[in-house]
Amino acid sequence: MVDEFDTISRLFAPLTDGAPEALGLADDAAVIAARPGFDLVVSKDTMVEGVHFLPDDPLDLVARKLLRVNLSDLAAKGADPYAYLLAAAWPPRCGWPERKLFAQGLRQDQDRFGLKLIGGDTSATPGPLTLSVTILGWTEAGRMVRRSGARPGDRVLVSGTIGDGWLGLQAARGELDGLDADDLAWLADRYRLPQPRVGLTGALRDRAGAAADVSDGLVADAGHIGEASGVAITLHLDRTPLSDAARAWLDRQPDRSAALAALAVGGDDYEVVCTARPDAVAVLIAGAQAAGIAMTEIGEVEEGQGVKVQVEGRDVPLVHTGWRHG
Ligand code: ADP
Ligand code: MG
Repeated sequence: MVDEFDTISRLFAPLTDGAPEALGLADDAAVIAARPGFDLVVSKDTMVEGVHFLPDDPLDLVARKLLRVNLSDLAAKGADPYAYLLAAAWPPRCGWPERKLFAQGLRQDQDRFGLKLIGGDTSATPGPLTLSVTILGWTEAGRMVRRSGARPGDRVLVSGTIGDGWLGLQAARGELDGLDADDLAWLADRYRLPQPRVGLTGALRDRAGAAADVSDGLVADAGHIGEASGVAITLHLDRTPLSDAARAWLDRQPDRSAALAALAVGGDDYEVVCTARPDAVAVLIAGAQAAGIAMTEIGEVEEGQGVKVQVEGRDVPLVHTGWRHG
């Protein structure tokens, strides 16, 4: 049995980077000095073995995905990354080498994204490996970008590309036929290691009316904005930004509209969907581009409610709109 105190003091305490907030992970709690003029934005995402990652996924990649799915929530809110807390429930299969590999993954991405560990909780479990991060970020006071800020007349935009996570899960499971090995490997990587759009925070704060993280699926998450804002949203799926690999997959599908709909409800994208006034769209796109992130206009906001999806001007029926965990 691995000692929990060893795990904390030898693997996790170094990840505080000496942050005074963490007190060396040797007290009951962390303490954060309030920053006048700023809001602390807080979010939490949990990953369960067999549900959010595959049992044989390397644990350094799992750690990095755990930070990245949380970073994606902060990015969508226009908040700049600050620190995180980690809860881990370890099954017997996770001994010292597994935990060490996990900590190495945390180190790699916390350095890359400017985070530090300031606390958490550790336990053992007879069930699947369960990992949860509470992430903290800052915005200037009152500037967090909400889901509720969309207005009729706004345009809808999305970052990066859509559908790679959904295709990538199938690729990782060996269930995707007809693509070449490079495309399959690239898609599986996109599933295992999403790219949180942290470079968007400034542009979103300045130009977006509403924003949401795309994790349940583009249609569902655009729907969250519509619901929170009390408006209707139309998405033109033929404008969905696609990677070369997703395009190669799409070209092989018999029903193009149904295939575009499948990509748009697939989930696991970790992109940002947002709305902006028509006269702010160009500046928002330019701001994103300056950070190396593509933003594509894919729809518009109207009075009413619900999400409508169209391909070449025709409504496309959806079997379901996205993922809902029990
Ligand atoms: P308690 O018995 O009150 O749950 P713990 O022994 O779990 O206290 O925690 C002691 C310290 O170690 C706390 O500062 C806590 O934040 C930290 N800690 C525990 N588990 C983790 C973890 N997985 N990651 C980071 N810090 C942790
Ligand atoms: Mg504890």
